[in-house]
Amino acid sequence: MTTDTEVPITLEPDRTQSAGPLVDAKAQLASAVKTLGYEEGLHQLLAQPRRELTVSVPLRRDDGSVEILTGHRVQHNFSRGPAKGGLRYSPAVDLDEVRALAMWMTWKCALLDVPYGGAKGGIRIDPRKYSQGELERVTRRYTSEILPVIGPERDIPAPDIGTDEQTMAWMMDTYSVASGYTVPGVVTGKPVSLGGSLGRSSATSAGVVHIALAALAHRGIPVAGATAAVQGFGKVGAGAALFLAQAGVRVVAISDQYGAIYAASGLDIIALNDHIARTGSVVGFSAAEPLPASDLLELDVSLLIPAAIEGVLHSDNAGRVQAKIIVEGANGPTTAGADQIFKELGVLVVPDILANAGGVIVSYFEWVQSNQAYWWSASEVDERLERRMLTAWHHLLDSSAARGLTLREAATVTAVERVADAHRTRGLYP
Ligand code: GLU
Repeated sequence: MTTDTEVPITLEPDRTQSAGPLVDAKAQLASAVKTLGYEEGLHQLLAQPRRELTVSVPLRRDDGSVEILTGHRVQHNFSRGPAKGGLRYSPAVDLDEVRALAMWMTWKCALLDVPYGGAKGGIRIDPRKYSQGELERVTRRYTSEILPVIGPERDIPAPDIGTDEQTMAWMMDTYSVASGYTVPGVVTGKPVSLGGSLGRSSATSAGVVHIALAALAHRGIPVAGATAAVQGFGKVGAGAALFLAQAGVRVVAISDQYGAIYAASGLDIIALNDHIARTGSVVGFSAAEPLPASDLLELDVSLLIPAAIEGVLHSDNAGRVQAKIIVEGANGPTTAGADQIFKELGVLVVPDILANAGGVIVSYFEWVQSNQAYWWSASEVDERLERRMLTAWHHLLDSSAARGLTLREAATVTAVERVADAHRTRGLYP
């Protein structure tokens, strides 16, 4: 079961199909720097993480043996505020992946105008193969290893692939025990009972759907006739499928790490959730037919929502994608090669740094609430989330049209410009 994770733990990214997320992230930055006409020194400053910490995480297994895991925390930028970003538990974690994800967090926070820089953490571990007790020990040891660099004013972790609100509760507790008092603002994505925000757990998928509906309207596709395929059925994909269906979009295909299903007349998401609660997978859902997982990406649908891992849309399959609009629920699902093909084909790609920003937006709301010890209602959170997402969407459409850039190019340019402006205004010390 993966439904308690931020996004599902699907198969590891296929690294043969791209040069890797860091190469793609750096190429996006280089193109933005070229558009903005920045000098090489500033380019390098934005390309390099400000701080990286790699730690050994010794784990005593339940059988008494000891295993040494490796963890990272990369803080890409602090120009606009403390670093912010998720913590990922996956066998695919490596330093370059964490560096790329940290850089994307910097751009995401800048694009949505939340007052943070970007960071990301990761431990190379397959959490499905460890008990809850083992995961608690891993989390607490990793937290104590990175303790000097995190904190509500320094760097605020949150859930990502393979971690959840329980992971955040352990991190918050470990940090608080070391501090000698309770520090709720050190992480976001906590349980509501510990100072988490209402609406945080569904925020990423709610944001994906606000943007998906806005993109349909932009392309002149009525919701009543619209169809969607969703790759990944963790928190992002599952929530997105449900909210899309509730909005009147026909969700015809869904996949998880075990396989994919298809129903031309639309999947009943509530019944599918019951099936998953019983069996742990979308596979075998009686009101649908099985579909080869890779075919899901190539269906003739209005909306394709990749909501699993990076690099799933690449030069080899991009030419066969028939979706009119791609809304990136995952971080980095489209390689640079695929982006170029989509540009030529006229497929509208709504980039991750906007499409999945609902999570970090409500993380920001949670941090504000935690720091003030004052709680907002669910409707306040939802309204503010929608307003921020749609403001950023309209701004992005305008800047993409004005500059003649794709949405990803325009989003990266806007974000890089905001970070560079903050850096320049603060000045280089000494
Ligand atoms: N892991 C999420 C992301 O990639 C959320 C990060 C956060 O809330 O800090 O955007």
